[in-house]
Amino acid sequence: MENMAHVKCINEVTNISSSESWLDHWKKHSNQYNIYCAEKNCMTTTELVGAHVQKAVSADDQLYIIPLCREHKASETVLDIIDSLSLVLANKNETCSMEKSAF
Ligand SMILES: [Zn+2]
Repeated sequence: MENMAHVKCINEVTNISSSESWLDHWKKHSNQYNIYCAEKNCMTTTELVGAHVQKAVSADDQLYIIPLCREHKASETVLDIIDSLSLVLANKNETCSMEKSAF
């Protein structure tokens, strides 16, 4: 069974200089605008970044983008994230042309 609500940060992919454009990427494809940090108990709305994550309990090893505060982005533990949050594929080509979304 897939558990989408647990993710781990893949910090080596995201650097700070590109993280704001990754947040824009997430906003564009998630259609979610009231943005909090994706961590379930975190109410941070400021200084969010687009973080690269993988599903923690899944054979799916694709990279996804979610909004996280800087503190949670730096976390090395598995994060419990908001159930309703959209995970946006980090691969811009795949996300922008949905034909390849068969995975
Ligand atoms: Zn947070």
